[in-house]
Amino acid sequence: MHVLVVEDDQAIASSLTLGLQSAGMTVTHVATGRQAVEESQYDLMLLDIGLPDFDGFEVCRRVRLTSQVPIIMLTARADEIDRVFGLESGADDYVAKPFGLRELIARIRAVTRRLTPQESATSTTVIGDLTIDSATRRVTIAGAEIELTTKEFDLLEYLTREPGVVYRRNDILETVWDTEWYGPTKTLDAHIAALRKKLGHPEWVIAIRGVGFRFEMTS
Ligand code: CA
Repeated sequence: MHVLVVEDDQAIASSLTLGLQSAGMTVTHVATGRQAVEESQYDLMLLDIGLPDFDGFEVCRRVRLTSQVPIIMLTARADEIDRVFGLESGADDYVAKPFGLRELIARIRAVTRRLTPQESATSTTVIGDLTIDSATRRVTIAGAEIELTTKEFDLLEYLTREPGVVYRRNDILETVWDTEWYGPTKTLDAHIAALRKKLGHPEWVIAIRGVGFRFEMTS
């Protein structure tokens, strides 16, 4: 596991580097957004938002033009967390500062695990015009590919296992996020909103008040 740490605070970067190395990871550290965008040899990016040249959101946007590499944002403020889970950020997860090394490593492993193809992930699911290829993690509607973040894909894959079946919020959080992490419930809602928008068919993902969600191609 080769982690690219993008952080302009030298003290944080040094302790992050040491901590991740002690967990057996290889670390490259850069301190600017420009350098971050130029790097390509890494498996996961840990991305600070406040950078001297352009911010983490811009880095994320530029990286996503060419790569689906997992990106975990390091956020310092609550309003940043909302933006991380906004529609266009492209980040896969976030860790709020200050964070513990154990928490960070757990989050890295969780994101990585989700990207590792599962046994069932060799099949293609076809529902009407919608095709979900779990092996290549590509989603198309009537042949047109739609770009989903890691979590949006996992969420769609989970909800479409059995169309029409209601999946409970906690089960979705456990499966799509991390069993050890019950994120704020608005995280799920933000991803549902993003997924609906990208699918272009918000009515396919149906909210069951107080229970969860089901996927049904009603149109
Ligand atoms: Ca910073």
